[in-house]
Amino acid sequence: MTKVSMKTPVVEMDGDEMARVLWGLVKERLVLPFVDLKTEYYDLGVKNRDRTGDAVTVDAARAILRRGVGVKCATITANAARKSEYALENIFPSPNATIRAILDGAVFRKPVTVSLVKPAIAAWKRPVVIGRHAYGDVYKNVEMSVDAPGKVELVYTGEDGGERRALVADMRGRGVVQAMHNYDDSIAGFARSCFRYALDEGLPVMFAAKDTISQVYDARFRDIFNNIYEAEYKDKFGEKNIDYSYTLIDDAVARVIKSGGGFLWACKNYDGDVMSDMVASAAGSLAMMTSVLLSPDGCYEYEAAHGTVQKHFYRYQRGERTSTNPVALIFAWALALERRGILDGTERLSGFAQSLQTATLQTIESGKMTGDLAALCHPPLTPLDSWDFIDEVARALRPAAGSW
Ligand code: NAP
Ligand code: MG
Repeated sequence: MTKVSMKTPVVEMDGDEMARVLWGLVKERLVLPFVDLKTEYYDLGVKNRDRTGDAVTVDAARAILRRGVGVKCATITANAARKSEYALENIFPSPNATIRAILDGAVFRKPVTVSLVKPAIAAWKRPVVIGRHAYGDVYKNVEMSVDAPGKVELVYTGEDGGERRALVADMRGRGVVQAMHNYDDSIAGFARSCFRYALDEGLPVMFAAKDTISQVYDARFRDIFNNIYEAEYKDKFGEKNIDYSYTLIDDAVARVIKSGGGFLWACKNYDGDVMSDMVASAAGSLAMMTSVLLSPDGCYEYEAAHGTVQKHFYRYQRGERTSTNPVALIFAWALALERRGILDGTERLSGFAQSLQTATLQTIESGKMTGDLAALCHPPLTPLDSWDFIDEVARALRPAAGSW
């Protein structure tokens, strides 16, 4: 078989700990034997981010804007403990937040479903997909703690010198204050990313916020979503028999739990952070959750939703062959290569990427899986370690090689 060739490289962002170990394995055993892989490589491992003053993260994000498709491994978000563990000079912000702020748009999280793993919410027959705004609100906040009574105001000074003020609070004593912002064009980009994703996937969209309480801020989100839907997407949605609705966030939570799934739930940045973990754990396992950042100008960044799986890494360092689930990382690679193939019109590449997804699912459906999933089966199955599991996926993939 001649290896599948690629036209444009994908932007590859390496990461940390156990996720980095699996990243290398997935590439070596599931991609490189079949694909003449072209990547533009960035090492986002915590030491290299530190060494480069985090420039490598910014460079990687800009490369995604240039190339159109990126694939990212999980990375450590540094804190005081990690600073001493890795002897870091600085504590830089989460690479995901840095990349999201540059790409803008929305992050979509969708579980990989297999018949052996039943969702905790029995009513969910199809995946609940979360679309999370990638910019602003509390993630770009300004906070202050106040030690004594005094007045806190919001002041806007226009470039023309005009000024507007609003009283936040007459602080009666010690307390805390916070200001946050968003931009109409970022909200519009969020809305368009959601509508475009929903059209691609054939899913209805529900956007939820709290416009009854936040009658300016959240109401702006609601209005921008409505206006863009009416002007640009309503007809296209009609053709696909899907629709868009706005609802209050608390009502949305109640509806989602009672639903059968099969829709995109568009969430503001913070709501999306919280709800995506709820949906991921209710769907079965964080290791089965895929994640893609879709920018308003059509760039894609794929990753796994889980972190670096730190505790497994320490066991791996002590010589253990851990049973860490590589499915979300395999899917990140497969979805990125599939997208690259679609954008470049290279059918063999998309064909390979689809076979990789199918082979992964077949392997699990045949009872071969890592410990996190094996424990969810009735009765529990004997788990494979990550290495053996990946070899089983390779075995299931090989016969498909003739089809691309
Ligand atoms: P985590 O890496 O997601 O792991 C939390 C726990 O979830 C693990 O201990 C494991 O449970 C289970 N788990 C997660 N992924 C798994 C997999 N692939 N296979 C099997 N089990 C899996 O989260 P964390 O331990 O809170 O964070 C570790 C580091 O990851 C932190 O430094 C954090 O900053 C970073 N992080 C990065 C990203 C990202 O880059 N996107 C996201 C989140 C966190 P058991 O131990 O019970 O087996
Ligand atoms: Mg989170």
